[in-house]
Amino acid sequence: MAVQTITTTAECSECFGEVELNDVMQNEIVQCGECGADLEIIDLEPLTLELAPEEDEDWGE
Ligand SMILES: [Zn+2]
Repeated sequence: MAVQTITTTAECSECFGEVELNDVMQNEIVQCGECGADLEIIDLEPLTLELAPEEDEDWGE
């Protein structure tokens, strides 16, 4: 099963800056270089980015 990846640029849904995507695949999280927002790649065709839900990585335990 081949994993589809793409290299392109997309528009950040937070700051509308340009986000570079290098060999990214679906469901990958990328970070906007402009505002630092985490963007989840919802779909590749068509390319759909969505602001990733903010999650605390550490819950203290
Ligand atoms: Zn941004």
